[in-house]
Amino acid sequence: MAKADCVIRGGLVVSGRGIIRADVLVGDGVIQEVGQNLQAPKAIDASGKYVLPGIIDAHNHPVYADKMDTFSLSAAYGGVTTIMPFFGNLAAWGTPGKTSEIIAKMIEEGERISYLDFAIHAAFVAEDDVRTEIPKLIKMGVPSFKMYMTYPKRGMMMPDDKMLEAMAMAAAEGGMAMVHAENGYAIDYLVEKFTAAGRVSREYFLPSQPNILEVDAVQRAATYAILTDCPLYCVHLSVREAPEIMARMKREGWRIYGETCPQYLSLTNQAVLERGALGKVGPPLREKEDNEAIWRGLASHAIDTVGSDSCNVKAEQKEWGGASTDFISGPGAKPRPGNIFEARFGMPSVETMLPVVYHDGVNGGRITLSRLVQTMCENPAKIFGLYPKKGVIQKDSDADLVIFDPNMPFTISAEGMHSNADFTIFEGKGVIGAPVFSMQRGEVIIEDGQCQRKQGNAQFLPGNRDLATYAKSGFPVE
Ligand SMILES: [Zn+2]
Repeated sequence: MAKADCVIRGGLVVSGRGIIRADVLVGDGVIQEVGQNLQAPKAIDASGKYVLPGIIDAHNHPVYADKMDTFSLSAAYGGVTTIMPFFGNLAAWGTPGKTSEIIAKMIEEGERISYLDFAIHAAFVAEDDVRTEIPKLIKMGVPSFKMYMTYPKRGMMMPDDKMLEAMAMAAAEGGMAMVHAENGYAIDYLVEKFTAAGRVSREYFLPSQPNILEVDAVQRAATYAILTDCPLYCVHLSVREAPEIMARMKREGWRIYGETCPQYLSLTNQAVLERGALGKVGPPLREKEDNEAIWRGLASHAIDTVGSDSCNVKAEQKEWGGASTDFISGPGAKPRPGNIFEARFGMPSVETMLPVVYHDGVNGGRITLSRLVQTMCENPAKIFGLYPKKGVIQKDSDADLVIFDPNMPFTISAEGMHSNADFTIFEGKGVIGAPVFSMQRGEVIIEDGQCQRKQGNAQFLPGNRDLATYAKSGFPVE
């Protein structure tokens, strides 16, 4: 056995199977042993605290106010150790070009500026030549491909015929499709209808993107996944109807995975009514019944993961468009204040995701801590081909560890965050429980409220070619 560097002593070690009191011996960047009374030159006290696998955020967009540098820094303070951003040939996300070329650049940039290890998902638009891009990307270690079923007017929607082509190709090559499932034509129809009637204030946002349009798109994406035999990952599920659709597909044996986000668990449309554009996300924040149904779906294994969908933008970029007006409604367009439809989508949520899900989920009695670890560590690692290197505390896995103090109360505020985004929609929310220490591959990242990691040490994590290795036919539904 290689020489140990340190031991994390006396904590409660959490996995998807349960919680045990154990020491974790770390050396050469990996976990050498999990057991009792382990010895090493350096000891880190975790008594009275939980030791979690580092959180894996499988859904984020470090292309706005935060690029991979400050985005990963903010994530690190939230107990995240691995990020999986989306990059692609979206006009809104930077220079157009071939998705594989853009991603090659982002891998190189990430290794230079990210504070955390990262994998990458590709995001396709209609112009992408999926027949040549998919094999190329899979060879590069990028086997997951996201497609928007909405935003046709913003040039982001993947038409159904191209989506089928991409799914068939991904299936043939061992990849996976990911979808933002909302019916874009129907949303545009409703937005136009409300706009024509002068109904553009915040209270018309949710009615313009009703539940049924997510239901329709999830079912349609699932239908195409079945036709093409392509594994499918539905990002940011938000509607109360979603868990039952996912559960049914899983019971039938299809490789279908569902993700939700803290904002769909803990926030309602009330946030939009109170704070306007700051609460504008796609899909929209919904109602209490939706929150509770999604929690139950998470607990019952109908929904597999929690990702952040963090889009770190500044408040003025949301309200007024700022430098990014062309993202909103065409080049040169200036959004009109007070028009919710012209405000920008997205909110920062990565730094708060673990405390929010822990507080409302575990303290709130909705999920167990083991289920939290399944949905925020193990499952993303399994689904995207990083397991057991990431996502679990066991011998030979990367020493990506978080010490979590379940008794630490704090109030979420933008001031306490480490992002260039200057607001959080969770402002003022009181929670109990916070990450207080983290390491990656044995190297300390966060200690005493400071980031110890230097840029240039993050690794790109290629996803497995066969994404179904560990998640063969979906996870069983309880
Ligand atoms: Zn997203």
